[in-house]
Amino acid sequence: MTTVVAPMSGGPEVLVEQQAPVPEPSATQLSVRNIATGVNFIETYQRSGVYDVKHPFTPGSEAVGVVVAAGSRVTHARVGDRIATSQASATYAEYFLVEDDEAVRLPEGIDPKEGACLPLQGVTAHYLVRSTYPVGASDTVLFHAGAGGVGGLAIQLIKNLGAKVIATVSTDEKEEIARRHGADHVVRYENFADEVRELTDGRGVDVVYDSVGKATFEDSLTTLRPRGVAVLFGGASGQVPPFDLQRLNAMGSLYVTRPSIGAYLRDRRELEWRMNELFDDVLAGRLKVSLDTTFPLTEAGRAHQYLEDRKTRGKVLLQP
Ligand code: NDP
Repeated sequence: MTTVVAPMSGGPEVLVEQQAPVPEPSATQLSVRNIATGVNFIETYQRSGVYDVKHPFTPGSEAVGVVVAAGSRVTHARVGDRIATSQASATYAEYFLVEDDEAVRLPEGIDPKEGACLPLQGVTAHYLVRSTYPVGASDTVLFHAGAGGVGGLAIQLIKNLGAKVIATVSTDEKEEIARRHGADHVVRYENFADEVRELTDGRGVDVVYDSVGKATFEDSLTTLRPRGVAVLFGGASGQVPPFDLQRLNAMGSLYVTRPSIGAYLRDRRELEWRMNELFDDVLAGRLKVSLDTTFPLTEAGRAHQYLEDRKTRGKVLLQP
């Protein structure tokens, strides 16, 4: 089968095509023929060396595919089922393995490419607004990168919860996209903190979700009301440097958290809850998936470049 491998860390060009045997499942695993795999920002951090990985490295954790073989102790899926997961590894390949416990069946009515947009970015949006800071109808939320993959889904979920959303974006085109997702106000990164203060009549927002990181985090803190919550969940512009916690005291007894998806998918029950709510929302028309672009699997490097060049307006997929 064809896989994509990074023999070393570096730019998008280190991702090269390679032939490998189809992997055999263990007793608890499914072997899956890949239909579409999600490209996510974390894979750019892994490829470039921001996050440590073992080389040669095949990226990818999110995919939708058809089960072609199942281990003897598998209980949730059967050969022929279409499954979705964000917890596999090495999904930049024609076939991949996933623990039976960590994949859910794709419901009838959800197209596989649509389904592949949800396990990672959708679950992230879900845990951020339902669990990290449970958004309520009276809240005002600041969400950075509102036209991106996680941003677009999160804005819709926040609106469905009845809250007000202010989004940041970098271009006119992205402003239009964030508005289509339901953002009440869309501002640019320059002076966003002042604009947020103005839009909230000086009060500040209840929660800020920041995945841009280095370029925005300091100003994000200044947009919060006293006892507000800063959720730092990524570093698209670079990682936030070490931070003196004492400053939170002077800024109004603020909270800061740095969540990651693994801690919000602790068991099968949590996985099913999040995925089924997302699938139900899509089937009911309350959540629209924005598929931006699909690249052939063998052009994974181009897909990474696209993400790093800030071109995404929704989900980027790879198709074998
Ligand atoms: P996006 O589609 O949102 O792309 C990232 C966006 O960040 C860009 O489109 C861009 O939007 C914005 N951005 C701002 N500054 C930069 C920069 N210097 N370089 C590149 N992009 C920049 O990606 P995803 O939806 O896949 O991921 C969004 C964020 O969420 C990432 O930071 C990712 O690491 C994080 N994440 C965290 C998870 C967690 O559990 N902690 C799980 C999944 C994702 P604009 O041009 O409008 O600024």
